[in-house]
Amino acid sequence: MKIGFIGLGNMGAPMAANLAKAGHDVTGFDTAGVSVEGVTKAETATDAVGGAEAVITMLPNGDILRAVADQIIPHMEKGAVFIDCSTVDVDSARAMADQAEQAGLLAVDAPVSGGIGGAAAGTLTFMAGGSDAAFAEAAPLFDIMGQKAVHCGAAGAGQAAKICNNMILGVTMIATCEAFALADKLGLDRQKMFDVVSTSSGYSWSMNAYCPAPGVGPQSPADNGYKPGFAAELMLKDLRLSQQAAESADADTPMGQIATALYEQFVEAEDGKGMDFSAMLPRFEKRGRS
Ligand code: NAD
Repeated sequence: MKIGFIGLGNMGAPMAANLAKAGHDVTGFDTAGVSVEGVTKAETATDAVGGAEAVITMLPNGDILRAVADQIIPHMEKGAVFIDCSTVDVDSARAMADQAEQAGLLAVDAPVSGGIGGAAAGTLTFMAGGSDAAFAEAAPLFDIMGQKAVHCGAAGAGQAAKICNNMILGVTMIATCEAFALADKLGLDRQKMFDVVSTSSGYSWSMNAYCPAPGVGPQSPADNGYKPGFAAELMLKDLRLSQQAAESADADTPMGQIATALYEQFVEAEDGKGMDFSAMLPRFEKRGRS
């Protein structure tokens, strides 16, 4: 298959490389002039999409996606599928789908979970929104870049699933970190805390798979000086998207709102920038009640 790939950053580069490795003819473009092994480098976004049966974007945010969509959609082949894997707001995902469908294209919003490690290993999870026909067209590519793809519903449903998932993740990570900090102050050994909670009703992915306490539980960024991993600023981005969606859908999300405010403070007013999102634990350790 001839594939255009736009946005060859931390995630996009390994995803494009995996498609090329699987034998697809991949042409890539990134404004930073990135080269990826096995991927033909295009000089412009429109050069990357000409003649492609599938175009994949992996970009920083919704505004950039909208700008790139305006640029490339008129140059895409009728019937081709436009797959956006970036994490963006639901409204931008729906706008992209409308614009693509009006131009005679198929469209899928397909944000991912699994991070840079999953992108490199080809083990991402895709959560997809779009028509059955569009999903069917994209599915073989998801199989190469990932281990699971869930068709969540119509356009925007993939982004909706992603931001709801990450709102839970932000909230459970904060809860896990504040509980560890409280346990410390109560004199409870961290290993004992992990042994109990990871097998009791307080368990979660944040505790069991990504434990924020160094030396406890499985290997995680906590064991590597809280180097990301999943950066606190990316968590803040996703939490803000969840609150933007909650606002436009008139949904009451008090925990999501508090998690957003805490990550905002951590990233913008404290020392969270450049740290993994689990570095909330050393943040809470340093603090008292007031
Ligand atoms: P990144 O910043 O490493 O990559 C984005 C790339 O897009 C950059 O290389 C940049 O030069 C390029 N770019 C920006 N504007 C462009 C344009 N107009 N045309 C072409 N290229 C352009 O970011 P990333 O970590 O690869 O993340 C990409 C997306 O995936 C984001 O939406 C992010 O939220 C999401 N995501 C990231 C992770 C993660 O762990 N990094 C996990 C899941 C989802």
